[in-house]
Amino acid sequence: MSIVLHEVTHVYMQGTPYQRVAIENINLEIKQGEFVGIIGHTGSGKSTLIQHLNGLLKPTSGEVLVEGVNLAGKGLDVKQARQKIGMVFQYPEHQLFEETIYDDIAFGPRNLGLLPEEVERRVRMGIAFAGLDFDTFAKRSPFQLSGGQMRRVAIAGVIAMQPEYLILDEPSAGLDPRGRNEIFEHIRRLYQETGITVILVSHQMEEIASMANRLIVMHHGHICQDGEPRTIFTRYRENLKEAGVDVPPVTALLATIKAKGLAVDDTAITLEEGVATIAEAVRGRK
Ligand code: ADP
Ligand code: MG
Repeated sequence: MSIVLHEVTHVYMQGTPYQRVAIENINLEIKQGEFVGIIGHTGSGKSTLIQHLNGLLKPTSGEVLVEGVNLAGKGLDVKQARQKIGMVFQYPEHQLFEETIYDDIAFGPRNLGLLPEEVERRVRMGIAFAGLDFDTFAKRSPFQLSGGQMRRVAIAGVIAMQPEYLILDEPSAGLDPRGRNEIFEHIRRLYQETGITVILVSHQMEEIASMANRLIVMHHGHICQDGEPRTIFTRYRENLKEAGVDVPPVTALLATIKAKGLAVDDTAITLEEGVATIAEAVRGRK
């Protein structure tokens, strides 16, 4: 059970003066149950890469297989394979349009032709994911919500389709710190409770570090690192700098402290680890 990319290249506007190779010869396998973080500088090809995973973009060359089904085909099996992938685009709240939150989340499930009871079950699940009370919010307009709530309702519409893979493109972009934290908390809980496969593109290194069990770093349309987040953030700092991406703030702080002469362990990548590490180093000094 996996998504496989084999030698995938994508060229935008091929054959015109604006031709642009966005990703090149990407080989990748994402297995069910993984939580994959994708990071990289703006323009490195992250959005292009993930839009291949549900067939929205077609490879210029190479192939994408979802559980063995080549998305280049046209059969029913391709439609079914694509339905396993839930895609949350950047600023998904721009796609809200129904009069009520209920109808917005129900839109996808209704399109699947599900029975009303099942649609309602899916909507309840979605509203719970969004952290809202069903009775209070179901009949309200999504446009009365806060920015963070609106975004969570938009994501809920994707989750209500019960995809096996959930792909999110910078889901916290443009939110204030509280809205950001809430989004990540809800994604974290969804992953823990359902075991859904998550592929998350984000610039929030700290959240990526604490949630992802695999990290992919994109650079100029190539995968330049693919592995365990701790290893990449702590052993490949120079490569990350080259790729134009940061390490988590706490990892950077520990490196600074160490450079100033306090013997700290600088392999922490989450805030909790960082606090523990510093406390230990300070105790050791007394
Ligand atoms: P990222 O998501 O990492 O910022 P993108 O996948 O959006 O990167 O972009 C990769 C490259 O492809 C960039 O050079 C970008 O300018 C180019 N690109 C992206 N979308 C288009 C498009 N629709 N038409 C032409 N070029 C594009
Ligand atoms: Mg992008």
